[in-house]
Amino acid sequence: MSEIMKSTTSQTENIPFSEFIDALKEKMKLVFHTRADADQLAIKRGLPPFVMREIMSVNPLSIGIPKAYGGRGGIMKENIGLLATASYESLALSLTFGINSALFLQPFGKFGQDEVKAQVFNRFLNEKAMGGLMITEPDFGSDALNMQTSYSEIDGKYHLKGTKHWAGLTGWADYWLLSGRQKSKSDKLQRDIDFFLCDVNAPGQNIVVEEFFENLGLYAIPYGRNRIDVQLPTAHRLVPHSTGVKMMLDLLHRSRMQFPGMGMGFIQRLLDEAITHCKQRLVGGKSLFNYDQVQHRLTELQASYTICSAMCTYSSENAGLDIDMAKHGMVANAVKSVITDLMQNAAQSVTQLVGAKAYKLNHIAGRSITDSRPFQIFEGSNDILYAQISEGLVKMMKRAKENNLFQFLKGYYLTGKAADYVKKQVDFNLDLQIPQRKLVEMGKIIGRVISLNQVLELADKGFNKELIDGSVSFLQQEISGLMSTFNYKNENVAVDGYEENSSWLNFVAG
Ligand SMILES: Cc1cc2nc3c(=O)[nH]c(=O)nc-3n(C[C@H](O)[C@H](O)[C@H](O)COP(=O)(O)OP(=O)(O)OC[C@H]3O[C@@H](n4cnc5c(N)ncnc54)[C@H](O)[C@@H]3O)c2cc1C
Repeated sequence: MSEIMKSTTSQTENIPFSEFIDALKEKMKLVFHTRADADQLAIKRGLPPFVMREIMSVNPLSIGIPKAYGGRGGIMKENIGLLATASYESLALSLTFGINSALFLQPFGKFGQDEVKAQVFNRFLNEKAMGGLMITEPDFGSDALNMQTSYSEIDGKYHLKGTKHWAGLTGWADYWLLSGRQKSKSDKLQRDIDFFLCDVNAPGQNIVVEEFFENLGLYAIPYGRNRIDVQLPTAHRLVPHSTGVKMMLDLLHRSRMQFPGMGMGFIQRLLDEAITHCKQRLVGGKSLFNYDQVQHRLTELQASYTICSAMCTYSSENAGLDIDMAKHGMVANAVKSVITDLMQNAAQSVTQLVGAKAYKLNHIAGRSITDSRPFQIFEGSNDILYAQISEGLVKMMKRAKENNLFQFLKGYYLTGKAADYVKKQVDFNLDLQIPQRKLVEMGKIIGRVISLNQVLELADKGFNKELIDGSVSFLQQEISGLMSTFNYKNENVAVDGYEENSSWLNFVAG
């Protein structure tokens, strides 16, 4: 089979990775700087056909396709490298690659049935097909396990029905992974979740887009609401290694581990924009670059660049397709939530430095605020992920019968190296009954201790020492600030009927 496939592929599998990436950079230069202007493209919805045609001509998605089917083999380092290269020019393009790879090609390659793989991968390689994932429903977002999309097996086909929204590449993708719960004979929905391949070009598999959304940022990517009423061959069902929920966790955790790829180019670009702007801009007869507060902001950006580099390195080595990521929720949640906070903070900070000019849709800094904002929401809202980190921590501490946070972190594989750097802050007995808001705060702390550990591992590999030192002190400062928030007792609840006796106009003297 592979011989047949290889004869029809575009032969990208044998090109050295650096050449492969250089070819993509050339294409991005052509479409974003020569033929068109990236700042003008980014303010219109969608992308002109030539942009995707040129970009896809170097077969970037072949990275996510197994070698046996003519791809580059789904190597994590390559995928993260691809995302980072794209996000330097366009976060939306990088997310488009991320959707195709982490949310479609990787899970389909791992859990799809061999019978349908060749035809799908072939269309990606030779016809530039695209794929996405539909989990979210209008009434079930964070609470995805209660999704109402259901399926039953009728006449040897899976009949899947429901409504899905906010799936990236709505109306564009040729292939989808659709999620749903099996309906029993008594019409009850099973607890487990199944995933199915849907080929929108095949009979009985069309997905109707009921509405396209006016998304606030990421203009290049279409989103909307989809009506699902499809009949799928049995070979389209993804086959979990154990339960469907564990398959979903493997998929989602691996995807979260790849967020630093999208963060990497994005943060580096903002850092470069900030340095260039601050060196050129004179305020009060002095270059902005020489003001102390400006230096502070630039060092924070460099710290984010370094932390993100550490995460990319860690994920490249620890989130491969052969690893069952369902078990690695702690690190995946930490990586995703911390990097998306750093991305949003970087965008806010560069907008501040650039000033009014940044508050234009056609300026990358202002646009980056709205482009990066949903990363803190999708694939697990950060509030929930931070709380889950702490819930996991409490569980492990109880199991280890250890109440002292420092002692626990010292012995834990994700934080052992970093613990001594934050000993002063974390050397106390943690009350294992924690209200949710404190779980979130503690999760932010643990997420950053895990980041610090990854930075220290990168330091051992010989990464730029000055940058490492800057990011270590940045993280120490963040952790210490978060610790004082954690220690501050605040049990305020929202006041019901707050309008009563609360109009300031009634309290002005005279
Ligand atoms: C740009 C973008 C791209 C997306 N791409 C995809 C995609 O490709 N495929 C897909 O299937 N979906 C996608 N989504 C959907 C996304 O995954 C959901 O929006 C997300 O899971 C949150 O669901 P929700 O919007 O329904 O918010 P809700 O579930 O209503 O949550 C809203 C907020 O409520 C709070 N909250 C919720 N539950 C709790 C809790 N237990 N404890 C405390 N606070 C809580 C949190 O602050 C949370 O952010 C995308 C969304 C966006 C904006």
